[in-house]
Amino acid sequence: MPISTDGGKSLFELPSGTCALRSIGPYQCRIFEKTNGVRHMTKETFSFQAEVSKLLDIVAHSLYSHKEIFLRELISNASDACDKLRYEALTTPALIDGDGEFQITLAVDKKAKTIAISDNGIGMTRDDLVATLGTIASSGTQAFMDALGAAKKDKKEKSEVDLIGQFGVGFYSAFMVADNIEVTTRRAGEDKAWLWISDGRGEFSIEEADRSSHGTDVVVHLKKADKEYLEPERIRTIVKTYSDHVGLPVVLQGDGKDIADETLNTASAVWTRAKKDISEDDYKEFYHHVSHMFDDPWLTIHNRVEGVQAYTNLLYVPSSRPFDLFQPERKSQLKLYVKRVYITDNCDELLPSYFRFLRGIVDSEDLPLNISREMLQHNPALAKIKKALTKRVFNELKKKAEKAPEEYATFWDNFGAVVKEGIYEDFENRDNLLGIARFRSTTSDGLTSLAEYVERMKDGQDAIYYITGEDAEQVAQSPQLEGFKAKGVEVLLLTDPVDEFWVSSAGPYEEKPFKSATRGGADLTNVAGDDKKDGDDNDDKKDTTEDVAPLIAAFKVALGEKVKDVRTSERLTDSAVCLVADEGDMDIHLERMLKQHKQLSEATPRVLEINPDHALIGKLAKRAADGDGKDTIIEDAAYLLLDQARIVEGEPVADPLAFSRRMASVMEKGLAG
Ligand code: ADP
Ligand code: MG
Repeated sequence: MPISTDGGKSLFELPSGTCALRSIGPYQCRIFEKTNGVRHMTKETFSFQAEVSKLLDIVAHSLYSHKEIFLRELISNASDACDKLRYEALTTPALIDGDGEFQITLAVDKKAKTIAISDNGIGMTRDDLVATLGTIASSGTQAFMDALGAAKKDKKEKSEVDLIGQFGVGFYSAFMVADNIEVTTRRAGEDKAWLWISDGRGEFSIEEADRSSHGTDVVVHLKKADKEYLEPERIRTIVKTYSDHVGLPVVLQGDGKDIADETLNTASAVWTRAKKDISEDDYKEFYHHVSHMFDDPWLTIHNRVEGVQAYTNLLYVPSSRPFDLFQPERKSQLKLYVKRVYITDNCDELLPSYFRFLRGIVDSEDLPLNISREMLQHNPALAKIKKALTKRVFNELKKKAEKAPEEYATFWDNFGAVVKEGIYEDFENRDNLLGIARFRSTTSDGLTSLAEYVERMKDGQDAIYYITGEDAEQVAQSPQLEGFKAKGVEVLLLTDPVDEFWVSSAGPYEEKPFKSATRGGADLTNVAGDDKKDGDDNDDKKDTTEDVAPLIAAFKVALGEKVKDVRTSERLTDSAVCLVADEGDMDIHLERMLKQHKQLSEATPRVLEINPDHALIGKLAKRAADGDGKDTIIEDAAYLLLDQARIVEGEPVADPLAFSRRMASVMEKGLAG
């Protein structure tokens, strides 16, 4: 359908869906030129992915106080692009035009009010442009959108403006200062160049362009209010502040006459410099660049290692959780360099996956430069580096835990759940892992280490007790813990989903096995506790146990296969009943998790424990002893108490109708009596 005609050229609009590309958005418009009867496309207009539009809106309307970071973001992208090409050229040298000297050039045009950031890096194809500058695919911006969603959900009035400050939103941050952005780019190895244009208001267009060599120019048309970014002095300061760590020269272009080109940064990769020459800000800015995170690093680990394997590591522990921490791939995010040449992002062979929250780089002196990403797997040299790095990280964490326990608690809150994966994955480092692990417990306020727990163990206590669940406060109230509390026996409160998996396979810590407080085997009789009436307790128990034998028998008959057993309880002091898993059976909380994830359909019958000291049980026991065994009240009580125990566990009542019928019947009898 022609939409306008203009001097022999016809413009057409085609319906949407004519292009196979992903995430193009609600509509796409293609404009064709007809010259000499041949129709060819000149320009395509796309609307941004919905999230990008939202993001651009936030960026454009936030009166962000550090607008200048747009330059950091564009320089960072230019440097990444050069790193990528340098790597590809290792195997395909022909990709590089000219002398192969990578450089980032800044050029201002005061008349046109533009600042251009150019690189001779890898460049982008047309499809790359659509996929990267039209959608949110990049790490920083995705994290930003996630945080924004979370903040909205919590109704935290943390403004969007603050959030941008924390994250940086990559390329899009340039719209804070731009009316319009033009990106001219040519992918290394391709002939065609492309021009991407957008005013950041919902649409962008792509058309063919000219560029003599590979690389990218990002031309930022500055808003009136942002003319300051045309001033060399301002640019100099920004580059020095945010981009000094960049490993290639960032050059401010002169005028070709009186003013010479000027390199603004140190232009040596930050990790290659001596520690004394690196300021905290340098470290911080490199962290922002390498991790795409904009918090401050919680810990910085920078070492140069000589020896069989010579390498430099500059690793960071973030102070907040990266958004992809719990993605199923559990991918490491370290960058590998060989002799300053970038090889790959997310090299999995450098640290175990339970340390995947670390960010940063490792630069090897010994690996061959032409190593392919595939060759990295099972590489013996890398395995050596991995072992040494892992040890180093453990040592640094241990030091922090000892010297700054409060700061360590923040770290543990962020990453403890990830580190604990190691306990069942990495047998070799089990002791290290258990050593740095911290736990909430029933008797300590903050976090406790296992060493501290063992020190506090009671005489006669031979196990480390734990209970698992979803919420620490809630599990701490479990009836199963009553006996432990009465004796002052500490119980660890394990509330991360991963806890279920390591705790059952961890083996003992300092010869003390881990035992669930909700299991048949948790036997407290030998523990010398704080319980005041401890001395005569045991005699009491003996008497009452005999008393409840007929009740137990009656309950077993009534409940049949619904329970695995009915037993008197060592662990109850206040509640009448509770459910426990028999020794060797699956923990109740684990079973519930597996059922939620549809990994398990059948529930294992549990052991119903009854508290012989409870008034209700006492009365029922008396009735059972006196009765003829066909008492319906005993049967109703058996079911009601079982249901009650299930409710306390957070389990649904098995048969709500029968439950209410029994409840009504028992209440009615109570009133009649
Ligand atoms: P990030 O850098 O976190 O990936 P950005 O929003 O800064 O996110 O950039 C998005 C993507 O656009 C980059 O991942 C890259 O693929 C592409 N890109 C941006 N600038 C350039 C450039 N100068 N050269 C090549 N590709 C670029
Ligand atoms: Mg970027």
